[in-house]
This record gives sequence, C-alpha cells and structure tokens, in this order.
Amino acid sequence: MTTREDCLLRDKRDPLAPLRNDFLLPDDMIYLDGNSLGALPKASVTRAYQTVASEWGEGMIGSWNQAGWYEMPRRVGNRLAKLIGGGVDEVVVTDTISVNLFKLLAAALSHSTTLDPARTVIVSERGNFPSDLYIAQGLIELLGNRHTLRLIGSRDKLDAAITPDVAIVMLTQVDYRTGHMFDMQSVTAKVKASGALMIWDLAHSAGAVPVDLSASGADGAVGCTYKYLNAGPGAPGFIWVPKRNHLLFKQPISGWWGHRAPFEMNPQFEPEDGIGRFLCGTPPVVSLSLVDSALSVFEKTDMAALRTKSLALTELFIELVDARCSEYGVGLATTRNTACRGSQVSLTHPSAYAVMQALIHHKVVGDFREPNILRFGFTPLYVRFVDVWDAVDVLVHILASGEWKQPQFHQRNAVT
Ligand SMILES: *Cc1c(COP(=O)(O)O)cnc(C)c1O
Repeated sequence: MTTREDCLLRDKRDPLAPLRNDFLLPDDMIYLDGNSLGALPKASVTRAYQTVASEWGEGMIGSWNQAGWYEMPRRVGNRLAKLIGGGVDEVVVTDTISVNLFKLLAAALSHSTTLDPARTVIVSERGNFPSDLYIAQGLIELLGNRHTLRLIGSRDKLDAAITPDVAIVMLTQVDYRTGHMFDMQSVTAKVKASGALMIWDLAHSAGAVPVDLSASGADGAVGCTYKYLNAGPGAPGFIWVPKRNHLLFKQPISGWWGHRAPFEMNPQFEPEDGIGRFLCGTPPVVSLSLVDSALSVFEKTDMAALRTKSLALTELFIELVDARCSEYGVGLATTRNTACRGSQVSLTHPSAYAVMQALIHHKVVGDFREPNILRFGFTPLYVRFVDVWDAVDVLVHILASGEWKQPQFHQRNAVT
C-alpha cells in the first residue's frame, strides 16, 4: 500500500506542485471541495482591489470604455473558450447556469420546432442537477405544455430514449453526485445522428477535465466559473454556442446587452448577429474581473497535464479507501473506470451527513449530497498527494472510533 512518505515523494516530483502557490489556502485545512467552490487565487485579491479602488473609484463611469468593462463578457469568454475547445467569439461569460440554460434551451427548442414541429421531447436524466430539470419544466410550462421532459433513470438507458420525437438531449457531462463522465464525442454523435440537438452542462467539466466542444459537434453548452475555475462565490457562468447556430438560435431574454447596438436606444429589439445575442443585462463587473484573473493559472499549464494529475489523485484516494475503509460500511459511488471519471470521488455511507460533518470538524472539507453521498473534489491545481493520504487517515479515525455518532455532527445546516 502507498505510504505517506510515498505521497510526499510524489508531491516533490509533481510538475504541477508549484501552482499551489498561486492560491491562498488555510494552512490547517485539507480542501477537497473545489467542485463546489474553488479556492481563492492570490491574483484575485489584488485584482478585486484594483477593479474596485482604481477602475471604479478613480475611473468611475469612464471605466466602461477605458478599463474595458464593456467588452469583458466577450473578452473573458474568449479566454475561457480555450479550456473547453470553443472557437473565437463563441463563448460569453454571463448570468448563471440556470439562466443560461433557460436561454439556450428556449432558443434551441424554438429552432427545432421550426425544423420539425413533431419533435416535442427533451431528454435528460432523473439524476441531473435539479436546477437543470426545474428550468426545463418551467420552460415547458411557459410554452403551454406542448413539450415533454423524458428523464432516464440511469446513463445506460440513453440510447433507448433517443427516439424520432426527440428535439433536444440536455445532459450534464460529469454527474454531480457520482462523478461519472459521459464521453462527449460519442454521445453527441449519436444524438446528432438521430436528428436531435445536443446541449451540454459543463458545471463539473470546465477546468476539471479536457473538453473539446467544437470537435464534439454539440449545439450549445453552459457552465459555471465558481467550481473548478476558481472565480469565487456567485461569479457569472458561461454559454457556448457554435458560430453555425448563432443566427439560428434566438434567445428569449431579449435585454439591451444582447441588442446589436445597445446605446442607440432603439425601441425595437434586434439581436446582435454573434455570440453577444446571448447577453442580457449589465454584467457583474467585479465578479467578472475575478473570472478573468482566475483563468491566469490555467495558462501556466494545460488540461492534459491537469487530467493526468487529477486521475492520479482520484486513483490514490480509491486505493487508500479500498485498503483502509471497507470494513466500516463505506462504498464507492464513483466508477473505477478512469475513462468515465471526472475529478471527484464519491463514497457512500448510511450516515454520510454525520461522517462529513466530523471530517469538516477535523478540517478535511468535502461535502454531503443526498441521500448518502460523501463527495470529495480533487482539484489538481492545488491538492497534494499527501492531502489525499491525510484525508483518508482522518476518515479512518472517524469511522474506527465512531466519532461521527456524536449528536453535534447530526445537525443540518442550510447548505450541506
Ligand atoms: C452547480 C451546478 C449548477 C448551478 O447552477 P447555478 O444556476 O449556477 O446556480 C447547475 N447545474 C449543474 C449540473 C451544477 O453542477
């Protein structure tokens, strides 16, 4: 079995190890929750100060032009596009996943209806992140219940669900609960061959695994920046639409920022021809500047190198859990097949909530997801091999001692 000394040696030899210095992390904490809220890049502290004190405080309204605020959703979108295989002027950073999904789904559905009104079904997964399903439900209701949402119960049921009446397949590539990853290329090819449109949610993919949207042939994608992209709480998400769909997709939240000439103040809405049509209103400039600064660290490496380390970390975690935790009722919810694994490992335990609270008490921070999931995110930018070893060591202590049974670990907080 791998020892703690082995892990220290692996850290010493890890070519990505220096990147940890780009983050501010509490000394006494093992942070395995970058899949929920990424860590704070040091550059973002000075960038936030600069945006607020200098660009806002001194530049005042002139900063919309002089500091480039106006162009930011597009400029930062182009920077982000490189991480997900998007083309130039195919990504804007704006709004949340939920809002972007509404815009994209509505635009794609309207286009699909023009092509073939008999296609009325949206396919997704019952286990998809609930907000994605809520958005589809709300849109269907708004459109007069002429469409249906078909939810598959497991990922192997996808092929059977893609029937000739399907308009759109809307999937999250990496499952937020289990970390299972779809092969974007082959799934998209299958969906497109059936005549349906393909929309991806990259919430747990962007910055976590290599993604090549252009090569996939998908029709659109959304994602967030506050998870593996480390842009901070509530930072705006992104939307990707390939150029071939720009004029075909008309999104319904027709705000002035999506107008072809917002400052002409024309009473008639006319969308911009390009990706800008997916904007809506005034962007959150301070948060957007943190997306910009958070992308800098990715430019010191590449997604292939990050993927190699991510898999090494998750493999190590699984090896140590197998060897040391199996007698305590711990199960593995994440696949052992590395080709289908995101950058997280989820364990099951009948008292998962209390076990996670006890871990957090010992400063090993992951999170709990209903109904019985202990979720650990392994961000290769700043998680060390020795962190993996130490986290499992604390987990073993909590399980072996039964410490998680203490009442204090059973009280539920609003955010789990
Ligand atoms: C985190 C996450 C979201 C969050 O959506 P917001 O609107 O940005 O809060 C949506 N979908 C998936 C799959 C997620 O993992």
